Amino acid sequence: DADWSGVHVVVAGIGVSGFAAADALLGLGATVTVVDGKADDVARERAGVLEALGATVRLGEADTLPAGAHVVVTSPGWKPSSPLLVAAQAAGLEVWGEVELAWRLRPTTGAAPWLAITGTNGKTTTVRMLTSMLNAGGFRAVAAGNVGTPLLEVVMAEQTAGQQRYDVLAVELSSFQLHWSSSLRCHSAVVLNVAPDHVDWHGDLDEYARAKGKIYTGVQVACVYNVADPVTERLVEDAEVAEGARAIGFTLGAPGLSMLGVVDDLLVDRAFTDDRRTAALELANVADVVPNAPHNVANALAAAALARAFGVEPAAIREGLRSFRPDAHRIADVATVDGVRYVDDSKATNPHAAAASLGSYDRIVWIAGGLAKGATFDELVAGAAARLRGVVLMGADRGEIAAALARHAPDVPVHEVAATDTGAMAAVVAAAASLAEAGDTVLLAPACASMDMFANYGERGDRFAAAVLELADRPG
Ligand code: ADP
Repeated sequence: DADWSGVHVVVAGIGVSGFAAADALLGLGATVTVVDGKADDVARERAGVLEALGATVRLGEADTLPAGAHVVVTSPGWKPSSPLLVAAQAAGLEVWGEVELAWRLRPTTGAAPWLAITGTNGKTTTVRMLTSMLNAGGFRAVAAGNVGTPLLEVVMAEQTAGQQRYDVLAVELSSFQLHWSSSLRCHSAVVLNVAPDHVDWHGDLDEYARAKGKIYTGVQVACVYNVADPVTERLVEDAEVAEGARAIGFTLGAPGLSMLGVVDDLLVDRAFTDDRRTAALELANVADVVPNAPHNVANALAAAALARAFGVEPAAIREGLRSFRPDAHRIADVATVDGVRYVDDSKATNPHAAAASLGSYDRIVWIAGGLAKGATFDELVAGAAARLRGVVLMGADRGEIAAALARHAPDVPVHEVAATDTGAMAAVVAAAASLAEAGDTVLLAPACASMDMFANYGERGDRFAAAVLELADRPG
């Protein structure tokens, strides 16, 4: 509801996010300058649309700060070290990410509270589980942020409709978005886990963890943390929260007070009970969690903690879990061929995620490799060595995994596929099939990003599934 006339906002980046930000700000009456280093056809076309709405657009030069700016709204792809962002901060200007902008554009009354989720791995899955639980509990909820509907879109709808569209938002936040957030105040929030990823963007692991910890700032009801990951608990301890907000843990073991956990194959709640000393509320069976892997039970407990903090009844937690369907490429069963199970976890794009899926199977032919993003593989390989029947490596940084295998699993047969065209996946799957025996699982969990060979992890998973299905169709 704020008055934006006379406010000069510089939007850094004319991608999807920057375009939406500029569009929203122009609609509110702000003076908008959009800057992008690129000047390709897509950028020009977007520039044309925004100029027609009154924006000034500068393409092909992204390093200097336009004169007269009051605030900068940055796109997720821009590193904090970008000259324009450095110049803005040196000039004392605030820099907002898309989440900070969305938060500031919420209407002052009637906006839906946010239940927010971040972490290195499991964000999307947990957001989807949470949305399912909230809906089962009778709340009008939507998944927003990195997954589902863009936050800006949800918030602008709240603005213009003049009435509340949702009771609550299940929000996925990345460390990039949190880095540029300052005034966000969530109902409740969780950091699922903190493991090395995107360290190239943030500078170092401490910076990355600190960015994630900002999700807890000002939380009203529950700061949910992972008992097995002390970094997440420390982030809660360091956070400034609203009076009365509680720290709630989740654990795969028996829960202590103020925790959710697992007892006798049941998910139980010892945090949101009437009598905190004795009672443990039954929420669901471990078997209700799909896919049924330990890391995913942890995701379910985290989602349940947020749902319970918002007032969802235990029966709706179970119902929500049962109606939840995982997104594609997250431990998805593709087919069983000659007694060998083929599983697509293409979304395992870092070692921490790959460790979780490797831990879910006993005899594995592992397909890995791609872009390492500065990660190391020793811990991952050492932890999985005993369960590996064979390994097929692909992609630009496959040599790094091969070296770790030579150190920690010298007896495991390794096959390297050097070709990097998308067709190479057929050779990868053929090699995996020849290493596997009936009862084994061939697991695509690359521990690396995909962009050296594929458009994204989705295409990598699709190519894998296609190659497996071809294998299933072949005669004999
Ligand atoms: P994100 O949105 O954080 O990338 P996803 O829910 O899409 O998370 O899961 C990404 C991958 O991370 C999955 O394919 C799986 O391999 C792995 N994963 C999911 N949850 C966890 C977890 N709690 N801990 C470790 N790895 C996980």
